[in-house]
Amino acid sequence: KRRNPGELEFHQAVHDVASDIFEFIQDKAVYHEAQILRRLAEPDRVISFRVCWQDDLGNVRVQRGYRVQNSNAIGPYKGGLRFHKSVNQSILKFLAFEQTFKNSLTGLPMGGGKGGSDFNPKGKSDNEIMRFCQSFMTELYRHVGEVTDVPAGDIGVGAKEIGYMFGQYKRITNRYVGVLTGKGLSWGGSLVRTEATGYGLIYFVENMLEHRGDSFTNKTVCVSGAGNVALHAAEKAIGLGAKVITLSDSSGFIHDPEGFDQNKIHWLKEHKLKHQGSIAEYVEQFPEASFHQAEKPWHIPCDIALPCATQNEIGQDDAIALINNGVMLVAEGANMPCTTEAVHTFREARIGFGPAKAANAGGVAVSGLEMSQNSARMSWDEVKLHELLRDIMKDIHERCRSHGVLADGYVDYAKGANIAGFKKVADAMLAFGIV
Ligand code: NDP
Repeated sequence: KRRNPGELEFHQAVHDVASDIFEFIQDKAVYHEAQILRRLAEPDRVISFRVCWQDDLGNVRVQRGYRVQNSNAIGPYKGGLRFHKSVNQSILKFLAFEQTFKNSLTGLPMGGGKGGSDFNPKGKSDNEIMRFCQSFMTELYRHVGEVTDVPAGDIGVGAKEIGYMFGQYKRITNRYVGVLTGKGLSWGGSLVRTEATGYGLIYFVENMLEHRGDSFTNKTVCVSGAGNVALHAAEKAIGLGAKVITLSDSSGFIHDPEGFDQNKIHWLKEHKLKHQGSIAEYVEQFPEASFHQAEKPWHIPCDIALPCATQNEIGQDDAIALINNGVMLVAEGANMPCTTEAVHTFREARIGFGPAKAANAGGVAVSGLEMSQNSARMSWDEVKLHELLRDIMKDIHERCRSHGVLADGYVDYAKGANIAGFKKVADAMLAFGIV
């Protein structure tokens, strides 16, 4: 805390990982002696730079850009760029630290990084966004590269922004290489990237269920969010025989007691992903459902809860309500949707809990596959990519399970994810010696 004053999010992330791997490190003196955790909690590099751009009225605007390169022990730095007014060094250091473990869990050769800017894209014109992205890349280009650091999108950075940044990188360097992932299909992007996080989440939960000798068939599922992750998770869960009964957005949640079907999901994809409508309008189209303004779906009884909207959307009260209503599994589609207290409550109650760094790693895994396709200068078909995603999520589940079994037989996936993610990076660092 003395070394990183005021960086609360970063302190919390390091503390959470440290408490899970404490025992493991104590048993393995070699990690302890080499101060691996302390070294990982000091990013390789924190780059911060000025981004100057001009708005549509001709005003000169000054933003701060960042790239936190946390660890490249097992591959080039990899992690998203976030454009949001809340972005600061603490949040990006926390995300880059977490990303190091998440990427390690995928089994692919990717290190951990994260970056972005306090630029707020909401309400900006396309031209303003383009000018900002070009200015941002005019500095970032010297710090990234296909074998150095490969950023992707995150909040506020979608295919459009990736396009503007990739265009600027190409213009400056005259090199057509996979320096960013999340690209458009006609210029180096990968099939299956869009649905990868939501589908991957369901594959992870399918493995949790299988481990208990169970399946999705006839399970009642509550999902929050109605964005990319939520709608693809709902779609895949329904495909595997579950009954998904809730979705939500920032206006409230919808409860459809009959359950969504593929037709309803199609309507929601058009309405939410294409036209940015409000979820409240669902009940006009499908009157069997009800809309609950400014509420969250966690008081509706279900077997499985999948928070896929935003951070801290399941607090301790929500966790208790879910448990009292008989929930058996909770898995995080969003990043950090459960508060520390809620996670503690689930673990204490021995509810199966899939942490984000494992359960939502499908997105970055397919980004890793985009890097492979770019290096090989070829594109793989959908069938192959779906198979690879399914296999990767199965392997992630196994890594978490094998390191997370407690004395009473409960699988603590959060602990298992931290230990498995740490071990691979730590072993590589040991091999490289002390530098
Ligand atoms: P989207 O922007 O597509 O969707 C987010 C959804 O959450 C929207 O429906 C939004 O509602 C809703 N939402 C946002 N804030 C709130 C709130 N305060 N209360 C209730 N609902 C809210 O994002 P994604 O689906 O891509 O991402 C969702 C989460 O998953 C994020 O935490 C992201 O970091 C994480 N994630 C995403 C990955 C990906 O591949 N997309 C990969 C790994 C993690 P509205 O429409 O009203 O804004």
